[in-house]
Amino acid sequence: MTTLRDIKCVSCGATYPVGKFVYKCPQCNGILEIRYDYEAIKKTDFLERMQDYGTIRNIWDFQELLPVDHARNIVSLEEGNTPILEYADFVQDDSKPSLFIKDESRNPTGSFKDRPLSVAISKVKEDGSQAIITSTHGNAGVAMAAYAAKARLDSYIIVPDDTEVDKVVMMQAFGSKVFQIEGDISDAYNFSLLISDELGLVNLATTFLSPYTTEGDKTIAFEVYKQFQGNPPEWMVFPIGAGPLLVGCYKGFKELMDLGLLNRMPKLVAVQSEKCAPIAKAYEQGLDEVAEWREEGETIAVGIHEPLRGYPEDGTITLQRIKESGGIALTVSDNEIVQAMFDLARKEAIFPEPTGAVGFAGAMKLYRQNQFKAEDRVLVLISGSGYKESGGYKKYLKDPVKIERSLAAFKTHFGGESDE
Ligand SMILES: [Zn+2]
Repeated sequence: MTTLRDIKCVSCGATYPVGKFVYKCPQCNGILEIRYDYEAIKKTDFLERMQDYGTIRNIWDFQELLPVDHARNIVSLEEGNTPILEYADFVQDDSKPSLFIKDESRNPTGSFKDRPLSVAISKVKEDGSQAIITSTHGNAGVAMAAYAAKARLDSYIIVPDDTEVDKVVMMQAFGSKVFQIEGDISDAYNFSLLISDELGLVNLATTFLSPYTTEGDKTIAFEVYKQFQGNPPEWMVFPIGAGPLLVGCYKGFKELMDLGLLNRMPKLVAVQSEKCAPIAKAYEQGLDEVAEWREEGETIAVGIHEPLRGYPEDGTITLQRIKESGGIALTVSDNEIVQAMFDLARKEAIFPEPTGAVGFAGAMKLYRQNQFKAEDRVLVLISGSGYKESGGYKKYLKDPVKIERSLAAFKTHFGGESDE
């Protein structure tokens, strides 16, 4: 039984029948959203399964709300079901909010991007397409390469030439053909569009280009609902580039509300690097539309260095969803990000990539600004692992001590400061 209803443009409201892979609205170039037959879903055992707060296997537990008709087309590496951890520093202190971490670095290729790529590649398989392309600064490319390998598709990846070596190596190991270009992620994205338009490759860019990838992102909301026993936290904090992860989660919570499972959603907080913050800047200035980011400047959080050049409306939908949820957008500095990385590593043994720690840095900043009440529960998303970006740490660490194998030599270094 299909539960898919239609596809609706969030800008002009035009609706389209469900068919093969689609991108933006043919009439106005607005972002498309997939809609389901919620009344039909209510008649299945979906609600009952959601309210059984037990085990989650992977994101395909939520197949009724994912845009793939036949289970035989699902391409899965057991993505999802990432754990909720509690930040110990805040646990004993009643004056502090409860701070939880959803560790998306535990996904098969080490980032939340496995969710959108599992869904998008399953759709590609259902359509019978064979060749796909994406543009990426790393994680989305690694995920696409992995799922393309599993689905035996031909995959092509455009990366800016400063993309982390370990990530490129993984893409190649999984069998993708990788092309490096001069420029940033906006340049890579616009170049990938040229190629997919001309050569007819399916473009799986994980911005808002197609509605299928955000459908994967929304499964985080479903898991949070179950992991918090039907009572999600008051706040959810995300590292944000264009913002499909946040927008996907908004849609997920909204669908749970439409199904009668929930009567409110968390306030969704977007955290950007101060070196590239088109959405946070628009929020701080009280604007309704996001503009392209024209300032130069590098950040350690390369994964969210997203200037939205040529597609600022992708930021506007994120800004809308932040406001509709009652959330906030803010920026953090590289120093605050580095502090967050080492706090997570040394207090909780979590090893995020620099971008992955941005949400935590933002939550700490909001805590210092007294934005949270003591009874609030705050959930921070760690978006990706440091395993494929260890260089982000290396430059802040001393080289290990080289010593001769004698007790006396060891004693001269025993105790004292760590290697930071
Ligand atoms: Zn439209």
